Amino acid sequence: MISIQDYALPATLEETYEVLTAKKSNTILGGCAFLRIGSKKIGVAVDLAKLNLDFINEKNDSIEIGAMTTFRKIETNPVLIKYFNGILPKAVSHIVGVQLRNSVTAGATIYSRYGFSDFITALLSLDADVVLYKGGQVSLETFLEDGAKKDILVKVIIPKTDRKAVFQTMRNSRSDYAVLNAAVSNKENDWKVVVGARPQRAKIARAASHYLAESQLTKEDIEYAAELAANELTFGSNIRGSREYREAICKVLVKRAIMEVLA
Ligand SMILES: Cc1cc2nc3c(=O)[nH]c(=O)nc-3n(C[C@H](O)[C@H](O)[C@H](O)COP(=O)(O)OP(=O)(O)OC[C@H]3O[C@@H](n4cnc5c(N)ncnc54)[C@H](O)[C@@H]3O)c2cc1C
Repeated sequence: MISIQDYALPATLEETYEVLTAKKSNTILGGCAFLRIGSKKIGVAVDLAKLNLDFINEKNDSIEIGAMTTFRKIETNPVLIKYFNGILPKAVSHIVGVQLRNSVTAGATIYSRYGFSDFITALLSLDADVVLYKGGQVSLETFLEDGAKKDILVKVIIPKTDRKAVFQTMRNSRSDYAVLNAAVSNKENDWKVVVGARPQRAKIARAASHYLAESQLTKEDIEYAAELAANELTFGSNIRGSREYREAICKVLVKRAIMEVLA
């Protein structure tokens, strides 16, 4: 159970940051689905509802997703369905059920850097940047690698290109967390192979990505790239699957995703 001592509804990002950083226990509220299943003692619960961060905006050369945008909006948004082979809607459409997707938010998911996240894996294959109130604009990859600093995730920026991207996931049952997930994308022979829920957070498989760019993309090349991804990344064990199982599944999901991108 969580407890909340006080509540704030700031009107600006500046005010939000002031309240957030005034005390260690002050905490931002996203959709609250994850917060509620924990046992945190929250000082001031900081609600972002007045900051107009619920948006998906198509710009000339990018698509921006505000932090308070729900997964359901991502899943049903025509722009996101149209671009990148619809990878973002596809990646979130597996998550539990519509009711949950109507409340969970993009900003909370990214900021929390959940290892099991399906959204982060898909986003990482699209060269996305995140915008933090204090930290400014940084690549999602850098943000995932950096340690946690208290900040507000404001929005995500995705370059609007004709990058074709594919998401693959393996689950023990439909609404469970993924045993493993993978995203592969390609734009003019610039390949990105990403694997998440290892169960550590998503990572780009650099050697596999480079190999695909240099290869002839034969059946053997695709199999070798999938092997490379499984060899260069680390995997762990938890109740959903062992390290060895994940390594084996990685080869299958990456191979399938590459073949789907090429199809
Ligand atoms: C039962 C259940 C099953 C799930 N299954 C899956 C799954 O299969 N796959 C998957 O990918 N995800 C899954 N999720 C995770 C879900 O998709 C969300 O990522 C998660 O709930 C966080 O979103 P939220 O809006 O509920 O965050 P909250 O619970 O509101 O917040 C989570 C954390 O993020 C912080 N935060 C919120 N917004 C911001 C911000 N803008 N800036 C900085 N910090 C912020 C909060 O302070 C808090 O620490 C599941 C969640 C639940 C509850």
